[in-house]
Amino acid sequence: MKKILCGIDFSGIQSFLYNISGEKAARFLRARSEYLDVLLDKAAQELREACGGEMLYKGGGRAYILTEGGKEKTACISDVERDLNNRLLCDYRGELYCAVGTAETSDEELQADSNRAFHEVSRAISEKKMARYSAEQILELNKAPIEADRRECKECRRTDRLNPNGYCAVCAEIMQSSGGSGVDFQSYANHAQGIRRLAVVRADADNLGQAFSECGGLAESKALSSALREFFKEEVPRICGKFPHTAVIYSGGDDLFLVGAWNEALDCIRRIREAFGKKRGGSLTLSAGIGMFPPKFPVKQMALQTADLEEAAKEHPDKNAIALFDRRFVFGWVEYEEQVLREKYEPIAAFFDKAPEQGKAYVYRILDLLRGMEERVNIARLAYTLARTERMPKELMNQIFEWAQDAKERRHLECALTLYIYRRRERED
Ligand SMILES: [Zn+2]
Repeated sequence: MKKILCGIDFSGIQSFLYNISGEKAARFLRARSEYLDVLLDKAAQELREACGGEMLYKGGGRAYILTEGGKEKTACISDVERDLNNRLLCDYRGELYCAVGTAETSDEELQADSNRAFHEVSRAISEKKMARYSAEQILELNKAPIEADRRECKECRRTDRLNPNGYCAVCAEIMQSSGGSGVDFQSYANHAQGIRRLAVVRADADNLGQAFSECGGLAESKALSSALREFFKEEVPRICGKFPHTAVIYSGGDDLFLVGAWNEALDCIRRIREAFGKKRGGSLTLSAGIGMFPPKFPVKQMALQTADLEEAAKEHPDKNAIALFDRRFVFGWVEYEEQVLREKYEPIAAFFDKAPEQGKAYVYRILDLLRGMEERVNIARLAYTLARTERMPKELMNQIFEWAQDAKERRHLECALTLYIYRRRERED
């Protein structure tokens, strides 16, 4: 039987979410992300009501629907798409755009191999995104009279008609939908161990395109997408719920965005990664970027810098990696767990936790020396510093000295010491 595979894709999401700078920006970040989710839901719902069909997959700003084939359906889909974008253009001044891509297919083709159809939909969506709004639509927008009472919204800085509190209609709705409560970045940072910092975590599944293309028929693709949905929509919030000062800002499709007290968020993503690794016979992996920020840091910069770290993790051979705080600290997950934490962090923490107060100063000194390790003279200074560190066991001393002389081990060691300093940092810092 003839079918049409139809993909709905929202663009402008990143900017809508993070391009905010008001004082409530952080507090309502999750509500903002939920708002977008609802918008995508409504668009998919509208298309299904008008044209029928079943929803195959939704998440990450995209939804796939399978409808019956035929010219009539194609026309119906185009109508819905045009209406949707007219409204988006009007409500969000062109910031959000919804591309709908379609591919003609059949039950027989989908059962045997669904790749061609999905690729065609993706290609159609990309083409639409390049063209975006038609000249006609833009003209229509510009014809609308410019109200004299437009001012800049306190939250999103977009120029619009504002309510008496100084918020645009979109921000006002988002704030109301969250019932006034939100994510409290300051309180999370206050509850962090050691240094009062937030960690922002962005992660997504590795090589998913390949996983889907290896699926063959539609039934298998559906099973994969429902496993992903179950994981990101249910398991991630469940794991995160065990960490009281960490919140899921977004989790769906194949990616997630968390914010929390830095040590909690870090433990949380380790648990998530472990759980994800157990799905589907251990065939799935994810890569994460973790940024560390003071709670008042601009949300947009948190999002961008952490996205950059996530990208660094994705560049790691075989992916399945973590980029921690800095592009220099990119490790495979197993490497991080085994060589950074178990092998180095643990014995270092065990020793320095019991070391006399002045002993802590040596952690900083060792780290400083490691950072300038290219100069040979530092090796001698490191040996001297280690020897002067009161009561340091000979074994640990020798190990640190050895690690310091190998580029890879040295990076592990630097990361372990950095983690230790963050954990032990006095509250006043
Ligand atoms: Zn606003």
